[in-house]
Amino acid sequence: MRTVFPTDAFRQLTTPFYYYDTDLLRATIRTIQEEVSKHAGFCVHYAVKANANPRLLNIIGQSGLGADCVSGGEILAALGAGIPKHRIVYAGVGKSDWEINLGLDKNIFCFNVESIAELEVLNELAAHKEKTARVALRINPDVKAHTHAKITTGLAENKFGIALCDMDEAVRAAMAMEHIDLVGLHFHIGSQILRMDDFAALCNRVNDLQRHLEQNKVKIEHINVGGGLGIDYNYPDKLPIPDFKSYFATYARHLELREGQTLHFELGRSIVGQCGSLITRVLYVKQGVAKQFAIVDGSMTELIRPALYQAYHQIENLQDEGAMETYDVVGPVCESSDVFAKAVDLRHVKRGDLLAIRSAGAYGESMASCYNCRKLPPSYLTEDL
Ligand SMILES: *Cc1c(COP(=O)(O)O)cnc(C)c1O
Repeated sequence: MRTVFPTDAFRQLTTPFYYYDTDLLRATIRTIQEEVSKHAGFCVHYAVKANANPRLLNIIGQSGLGADCVSGGEILAALGAGIPKHRIVYAGVGKSDWEINLGLDKNIFCFNVESIAELEVLNELAAHKEKTARVALRINPDVKAHTHAKITTGLAENKFGIALCDMDEAVRAAMAMEHIDLVGLHFHIGSQILRMDDFAALCNRVNDLQRHLEQNKVKIEHINVGGGLGIDYNYPDKLPIPDFKSYFATYARHLELREGQTLHFELGRSIVGQCGSLITRVLYVKQGVAKQFAIVDGSMTELIRPALYQAYHQIENLQDEGAMETYDVVGPVCESSDVFAKAVDLRHVKRGDLLAIRSAGAYGESMASCYNCRKLPPSYLTEDL
């Protein structure tokens, strides 16, 4: 299921723009649903922060997946895309009162709560409305994921979640609160994780915690293991649909679910990452002292991952001719970090060539900014061109 770019149609369009291969997106979602259906009680929530493009969100909403939101705006976006409220979970270390009230008014499935301070506010706001908030405590499992430091979240000391050593106190607090219904435990160890043993390590930790809670007569309806399944940035066409079979099988094998318990996943990158590309035009080729620069009209304002995480994205010259040469591909923004890639091999680049920066479907458009007074770029789907 390789993405085939409609290059002739692209030539008529103003760059930069995002291109989304919706055939690939739909095939990815179908694969998830096939794999999930093999395991009783598994539910997938799409992590809206990966890409909140309304048309993609509609496709995802129509497919029946739930949503994982990290802000009130995302809850509204998910509802707007037809994702039912009983499939919406809401996480975030800093929930504003209006966001909590929105979640309460909409009766979402669960608040993933990250501190005792937040529990107290949630209890108070729910009391005002004479409601009970369904809560999962986000516990920091202290499991190290093999990924970039800026995207691991599961270590002991972290702004996210409740430390393991504080779990019992948080559980006691939640159970004592009149307007809080403690229904779940939530975890998320990081993003762009490709080693199944990292997820297995999380399962082992969850099993220990469940046994510990049961000894204290605490019963939990559901476990939420977050997201984090990675994609292949080096070879986007090799496995455009991530290995969901192994991913879900790892949880089925290692996580000891109790009778009637459901297991929730919050997948972002692995759902939308490979379907998106940033299409940009070459403005100039500048001969440097020891290298040559392909200066393009796209920048870190459309795709910040290389600048923010030193992330690698494969780049292709869509003009399929000419010998391979080595370039630094850079954007026009006034920051030295506005570099898409250093020393990459591309077919001979000239002014006007279109480049596809691959695997940009996740954390591309959703992190776009207007720095340098740039405009937010448009997006096109397969069915548009
Ligand atoms: C970002 C995030 C996710 C999604 O992560 P991916 O790596 O995109 O799958 C899921 N859950 C939480 C709590 C998150 O913060």
